[in-house]
Amino acid sequence: MDTLLFAAPGSLGPTLVAALLGLLIGSFLNVVIHRIPKMMQRESDNYVAHESGKELPHTDRYNLMVPRSACPHCGHQITAMENIPVISWLALRGKCRKCKAPISARYPAVELLTGALSALLVWTFGSGVAGMATLLFAWLLIAMTFIDIDTQLLPDDLTFPLLWAGLLVNLDGTFVPLRDAVIGAVAGYLVLWAVYWLFKLATGKEGMGYGDFKLLAALGAWLGWAMLPTIILLSSVVGAIVGISLIVFARRGRDKPIPFGPYLAAAGVIALLFGDQVSGIFQGIIA
Ligand SMILES: [Zn+2]
Repeated sequence: MDTLLFAAPGSLGPTLVAALLGLLIGSFLNVVIHRIPKMMQRESDNYVAHESGKELPHTDRYNLMVPRSACPHCGHQITAMENIPVISWLALRGKCRKCKAPISARYPAVELLTGALSALLVWTFGSGVAGMATLLFAWLLIAMTFIDIDTQLLPDDLTFPLLWAGLLVNLDGTFVPLRDAVIGAVAGYLVLWAVYWLFKLATGKEGMGYGDFKLLAALGAWLGWAMLPTIILLSSVVGAIVGISLIVFARRGRDKPIPFGPYLAAAGVIALLFGDQVSGIFQGIIA
């Protein structure tokens, strides 16, 4: 029988536990994705009102725990039974139990994605320090991906913890030597910062946001500077595939801005899992 913690890669028990844990965490990530942008907006509204001596517009408590989740249409409070990952959504046929307003399929999709990715990571890295760290890595990236899709923002509250965690986890060289992690963080930021300014000077437009620099810095901290070219190439490939599909299948306008963060996040996860193989393929193409 496997022990659940500190199991080697390829252990079935810990992988199944990671899948279940991932489903539950995915349910929490749905709350994070929904509320962090609202919390930031409320904070900024209050700051503006405070600076101009007006009454604060938001005085009720609103954070990741309070208030309890409710249907946005009728205010019906979600009970524990209606909050079981994936199963509740299926049982309710994607509708609020009270008012029958549709509940987005994205909620169970985020839960399934988090469950599947958590299982894959524990299967690949085991359930020791490295495996646990990769779970944190994936969960933060999933939250950032959907917040960026919704708001075109990558909150500092998520990019900075990911960056610090990457440096900490590599103190003992868990994924790369600390030296490579520190250089990776700085280089990751500077590369996109330079691209941003070159693009801005050349076209007068802003191609990406500062959140993207911080996200690539964080990926550099986790995976080291040597993985940065692979991450950038991968994100461009994923971006091109998704971008073209969106234009072809969803008839999305070419001018509509598509955030870059989700592609960086996807590239980061792929690079964590298959970085060496992917770099090998890219090198083979270039050479
Ligand atoms: Zn409702």
